Amino acid sequence: MADVEFIKSQLTAHPDFPKKGIVFLDIFPILRNPIAFETLITHFIHHITSHTIAAAPSKKIDVVVGLDARGFLLGPIIALRLGAAFVPVRKQGKLPGQCVSASYEKEYGTDSFEMQADAIKPGQTVIVVDDLIATGGSATAAGELIAKQGGKTLEYLFIIELMFLKGGSKLDAPVYSIVQSD
Ligand code: 5GP
Repeated sequence: MADVEFIKSQLTAHPDFPKKGIVFLDIFPILRNPIAFETLITHFIHHITSHTIAAAPSKKIDVVVGLDARGFLLGPIIALRLGAAFVPVRKQGKLPGQCVSASYEKEYGTDSFEMQADAIKPGQTVIVVDDLIATGGSATAAGELIAKQGGKTLEYLFIIELMFLKGGSKLDAPVYSIVQSD
């Protein structure tokens, strides 16, 4: 698929970032190139409309959830194109009002994600968007927040999936990734 190769060609790898031994894959070159960014969003929308929505019993997606922080750059654009709501999942202590929270494992210790308590209504269909899935810890916590509110997660979508970490196997819905990396 030419669009996948084009998107892949925009990614840059940064050895030893944010610390020694980690190769960080940077998605920001995609956002710096309007043609690449449009290709990325169009690719996601094509997949969501032809597969995710087509397979959904209600034939619609009510809510797009974006994960702190790079999911915020993709989620609102996808939500607008689908005519869906956008809901952020943020690190603990950043959202006003009553929140639901879920903790997840980080490399050292745990962290917590939060969502505003009235953000998703029981029975709503939801997709989750982020730039990359590694261990799947953050996506798992987001799935818990959606389930706590009675939402139904249909799919988790990422630009990049780190296959060797098998993060997708933990999740309560299928994963869709544009680029698979080892
Ligand atoms: P996980 O919770 O699946 O272990 O980690 C995924 C989270 O870490 C995502 O929010 C993602 O933004 C961030 N992340 C981890 N490694 C990378 C990387 O190499 N590149 C980018 N862009 N994000 C990463």
